[in-house]
Parts: sequence; structure tokens; C-alpha cells
Amino acid sequence: MSKTAALSVDVLVLGAGPSGLSAAWDILKDRRHSVHVVEASERVGGRTFNHTLPSGILIERGGTWAGPTQTALLALAKDLGVAIKSGKPEGKTFYGFGGRWNKVEFPSEIAPIEAQRDFERAMATFEALCRTVPTNAPWTAPAAKTLDAMSVGDWIRANTHLDESRAWLTGCIRKLQGGDPDKVSLLWMLHFIQSASFEDLLDTAEDYRFVGGAQSISLNIANRLGDRLWLNAPATRIDQTARDWIAIETPRGSSGGAPNDRGDDAGLVARHRFRAGVTSRSSTPNHRVGHHELDQVSRDL
Ligand SMILES: Cc1cc2nc3c(=O)[nH]c(=O)nc-3n(C[C@H](O)[C@H](O)[C@H](O)COP(=O)(O)OP(=O)(O)OC[C@H]3O[C@@H](n4cnc5c(N)ncnc54)[C@H](O)[C@@H]3O)c2cc1C
Repeated sequence: MSKTAALSVDVLVLGAGPSGLSAAWDILKDRRHSVHVVEASERVGGRTFNHTLPSGILIERGGTWAGPTQTALLALAKDLGVAIKSGKPEGKTFYGFGGRWNKVEFPSEIAPIEAQRDFERAMATFEALCRTVPTNAPWTAPAAKTLDAMSVGDWIRANTHLDESRAWLTGCIRKLQGGDPDKVSLLWMLHFIQSASFEDLLDTAEDYRFVGGAQSISLNIANRLGDRLWLNAPATRIDQTARDWIAIETPRGSSGGAPNDRGDDAGLVARHRFRAGVTSRSSTPNHRVGHHELDQVSRDL
């Protein structure tokens, strides 16, 4: 049986992907609070993942590029000393459907195939819908409730006419969010794209890359965290029912802390008990929707 430990910290971060680690890095730099990160898998980086091929070539699987609207990510890389370089991919892009490969020409200059026209029509409708969602208050969008009740997958099925364009658009969305369009709210997706801007998505989203690969941002923070980070430690239980204590359990040990320094604010913290549906590394959400379902492979780091 593995040795377990008990920790008491001010801030406990669940998940050592780019979001969790950037939060932990801010807290570490600030020095006013203690921080600890628990990560379900055996590595950091979440859906960013550097990988070395048997030939020795380093490639990136998962998150790779950044665009100028990803200001927080670019500032984080700069802060950590991770160099940024121009990332425009060269060469031609092909997509496969039913064993047939087509060159992607978007926007099309030569007569497009029917599926491409259908795809472009759907994209234009999607873009118009994105523009109805205010980035600072998405819930005030006209029809916000309806958009939130609908999945992106439902929307794609209702707005494409051919299996091929449907598969193409579904692939684009899967690539963007790294998961199943049927499991994501349409409102969330529209807001996600609108906050980066549609122009960035089409024109500049692949302007930059990180020397050493996007995962090096997480690896860099993990180094600085040292033993304040636990790998192979999925949070399996979170208990917020006590008034002055939040307890978290992982197979490596448990962790806990006061919800807030000030007793009067404690009432604002939702009190619930949560048992995560993760019991092992292979069933973490990341493994369900991440690299095993979809890979984006690029080299030349
Ligand atoms: C194929 C692909 C291509 C992509 N391309 C790009 C791109 O070019 N540019 C771009 O900006 N973005 C891209 N993305 C998206 C980008 O990778 C994600 O936006 C980013 O990784 C999200 O970071 P995160 O920390 O929020 O989540 P994640 O990276 O998913 O990290 C979450 C972490 O939490 C851990 N975790 C989950 N449950 C628990 C638990 N109960 N206890 C402990 N730990 C837990 C997971 O193991 C994981 O490490 C791509 C994604 C994929 C899949």
C-alpha cells in the first residue's frame, strides 16, 4: 500500500494543466499564501504534451499554437522565460473523409466542392452567432438560455446538409476544444471563440509557438513548484460540508484548508460533498477527451 500524507494549505489546485499551473505560479510568486497542486496523471501539461518519436524527433501533441489575442498565455511564457517564435505552419493542409483526402482551401479561390460550400455557409452562420455573445456577459446574449441548452453537436447537425461538411466542422470543433461537441454547450463555445475573436481564429491563431513545445510552460512551473506538486494524485473526494474546513482526498494523501481567512465570508462558500468519477489515471477526464480521442501532431520545436 502506498504511503499517504496529510497537508494543510491555503490554496489547493486540482489539475496540473496550463490553467491550474498558471494559477499556482501566481500564488507562488505572490508569496502570501501556501499552494499545493494535485494532478491525476503521471505528468503535467494536461492537453499540451511534448512527445519524442523513436527517431528522436520532438513533436507536439495537443495544444501547440498561440495567437495575439492569447495575451495571458504569451505574458506567462515571457514571465517564465519560455521563448516564443513565429509559428505559421508551412505547406498544404489536407483533410480525410471516408478514405479520401482533400486539400483544404479556405477561403476557396477555385470552384469549391459542394461540401466546402456547405461548410463555409455553416461557418458564416456560426460567426454571426458568435458576434451576438457579449464577451464580458455571455448570459445576456439574445436567446442565451436556448443557446446554453443546445450542444455544439446539435447545432452542427441542424446547420449542415452533407455528412462530409458535418464531419469537417465537427473535426474543427473537436480540435478547438479537445473533446466531443455533443458534450459542450453552444453558448459556452460561442463565448470561447468570441473572446479570442473570430479573426484571430481564422487568421492569426497559429502565429506563435513556444520553443521546446507548449508543454514546456507547464514543465517550467512544475520545476519551480517542486514537492508542492503531486503527480498520480487524482482528487477522488472533495468535502466542503464543514464550516471551516475543505478536505480533499487523493490516493497519495489528503489535503485540507480553511475556506477563507474571515469567518464572515465562510457562508459564501458552497457547501457540498463531491465524489469524483475518477479512481485511476486511465479514467481521468483528460484521458477521456484528450489525446486518445484526437491528436494534432506538429514538429519543428
Ligand atoms: C489536439 C488538441 C489541439 C489543441 N491545440 C491548441 C492550440 O494549438 N492552441 C491552443 O491555445 N490550445 C489548443 N488546444 C487546447 C489546449 O490544449 C487547452 O485549452 C489547454 O490544455 C487547457 O488547459 P487546462 O489546464 O484548462 O486543462 P487541461 O490541459 O485539460 O488540464 C487539466 C488537468 O487536470 C487534470 N485532472 C482532471 N481531473 C482531475 C482530478 N480529479 N484530480 C486531479 N487532476 C485532475 C488532468 O489530468 C489534466 O492534467 C488543443 C487541445 C487539443 C486536445
